[in-house]
Amino acid sequence: MKNKKYSIESEMVHADQPENDPFGAHVMPIYQTSTFKFDSVEDGRKFFAQEEGGGSHGYSRLGNPTVDRLEQVFAKMEGENIAEDVGALAFGSGMAAVSTALLAMANQGAVIAQPGLYGCTGQFLKEEAPELGIDTHFLDLNDLETLDQTLQENPDVKVIYGETMANPTMSILNIPAVAEVAKAHNVLFLVDNTFATPYHLRPLEMGADMVIHSTTKYLNGHGTLIGGALVAKQSVIDEYNVALFRKNLGGVTSPFDAWLNLNGLKTFTLRMQQHTKNGMKVAQFLEEHEAVKKVFYPGLDTHDQHELADKLFEKGYGGVMSFELKGGYEAGVAMMDQVDFCTLAVSLGTVDTLIQHPASMTHSVMDAEIRQQAGITDGLVRLAVGIENVDDIIGDLEQALEKSKPEPAMY
Ligand SMILES: *Cc1c(COP(=O)(O)O)cnc(C)c1O
Repeated sequence: MKNKKYSIESEMVHADQPENDPFGAHVMPIYQTSTFKFDSVEDGRKFFAQEEGGGSHGYSRLGNPTVDRLEQVFAKMEGENIAEDVGALAFGSGMAAVSTALLAMANQGAVIAQPGLYGCTGQFLKEEAPELGIDTHFLDLNDLETLDQTLQENPDVKVIYGETMANPTMSILNIPAVAEVAKAHNVLFLVDNTFATPYHLRPLEMGADMVIHSTTKYLNGHGTLIGGALVAKQSVIDEYNVALFRKNLGGVTSPFDAWLNLNGLKTFTLRMQQHTKNGMKVAQFLEEHEAVKKVFYPGLDTHDQHELADKLFEKGYGGVMSFELKGGYEAGVAMMDQVDFCTLAVSLGTVDTLIQHPASMTHSVMDAEIRQQAGITDGLVRLAVGIENVDDIIGDLEQALEKSKPEPAMY
């Protein structure tokens, strides 16, 4: 490809094609090397001084051709329509991206975050970050008045942190509105866009300053790696020395994982289309089922933020949802023991359908009362709908729900 701009869907299919491979490789090779040779002392000096004309690479923690290619694609996916230069950094996990971004951008200051964050992000902000001098105010970011007031009362706040679509109720962040408040107070607005992905939502276009991903999920899509990314205007990455923090905290990704991710990105658009189509059908099926009390999926008009979701999302709502069983804890356990086609596993965004029951699995060690407060009721089931034939997914859920139904007396 020369300089012409092609659609992002087409560019994704070409995601793993190198720009200038010395051997003319069609697919980006895995540059599985720790270090790189310099032609001369002067070449090496220029590289480390970041001067023009030096070697392009010196050491794989600082940069690697396979990883560079992945970062270019991430930048394009989230930043396609941003006029300014957009940059991306790839990480060895989503949490490396989250913690590096927060340490770089909120240091010597405070954070405002939504209460229902991804578990490890919440734990980092509640337990580790305060020991490093970063305190967090937890509040519903969509409550703009409280957000504004908290910012007025706490001039030390540097970062507002939210998730564009979040567990357990698939809550939706009002990105344009929060971005406006953030701008008015001159604080940074960081969002985790893992659930929605740039297929559905591009937060940079809506005023967010940085987008973070666990690439472990939809961006890779095949459940074969742990990875993370952040994307922002290059001027923001530079101003907060985020690349320097990554270099010295060291949470880089490996060339092999970068290559796996490039391979996964080729089918990203196609995968998301199918996740989205299947997600809606499965949500509608669950909503109709007599053993199900409530389904949390932004595409349903029973979702309490359906209107907002409809305004922000143009192409559907992806494949992640949760639902509550009338039969509570026992029904959840019985259903998990009955699923045959769906895979009993945590995580999301893989091509196959994953299901889990937080109360008896991921959150079983949590105090029952705290679990309830976090919205994780005893009968709550998490479902990440895959790209299989939707009849097989629904058929499996149907037989598992049938066998998990409590005695009729309970209704
Ligand atoms: C999985 C996940 C993370 C953490 O990513 P890892 O790749 O597991 O480190 C962060 N945020 C969200 C929303 C996630 O789903």
